[in-house]
Amino acid sequence: MPERRPVVAVDGPSGAGKSSVCREVARRAGLVYLDTGALYRAIGWKAREAGVDPADGAAMETLCRSLRVEIATGPDGATRVRVDGTDVSDHIRTPQVSLLASAVAARPCVRQSLLALQREAAAQGGVILDGRDIGTVVLPDADLKIFLTASPEVRARRRFEELAARGEAVTYEATLKEVVARDEADAGRAVAPLKPAADAVRVDSSMLPFEAVVEHLLSLIPHG
Ligand code: C5P
Repeated sequence: MPERRPVVAVDGPSGAGKSSVCREVARRAGLVYLDTGALYRAIGWKAREAGVDPADGAAMETLCRSLRVEIATGPDGATRVRVDGTDVSDHIRTPQVSLLASAVAARPCVRQSLLALQREAAAQGGVILDGRDIGTVVLPDADLKIFLTASPEVRARRRFEELAARGEAVTYEATLKEVVARDEADAGRAVAPLKPAADAVRVDSSMLPFEAVVEHLLSLIPHG
């Protein structure tokens, strides 16, 4: 019988380093990486394009009903997302889309419309998914659950450096505000709030170099 490959769920607040860590863990462990934040970002982008206010429940329901979201993995291991046939991957990393993503993510119809896609992606095993509710809602039976976090200041510093390197006109103070606002919205919402699963291993990356976090996660992944 072929051995069942592991399903790894990584949750945590924004800027904890989930996507870069997961992408490297995926590369070294031979797993497929899915960045689920990209899906909510893509829907936030689509809402803006369609002129839909995420606070308008009825309009969001209509948007959700017609939405077609597709995922692929790029040559660099990053998640690529298409919405209604348009590849939006290069347009969804701005601070504005971050806040839109968080706003649409509070809508039950949005979460529902992305659930099957995420579960299908994980169905064959050999995957690592990162997000806010992977271990609690999407994949409660994951073989390994990690809650990756860091102090708000460290997370804001990382986000700020990432955005500045991409040429975004941002300040550290504005980034810290955005990170804290998103944490509050994500942890405070009624559906699928950001929280560690009861059986998650907590990893605080505030004082840990990138390589140490990657090696720690690799050491925790069960082998068939
Ligand atoms: O991880 P990232 O910062 O790209 O996520 C963008 C937003 O998408 C988060 O602030 C959160 O509101 C939402 N999200 C979510 N559930 C996930 C992944 C992301 O609600 N599994």
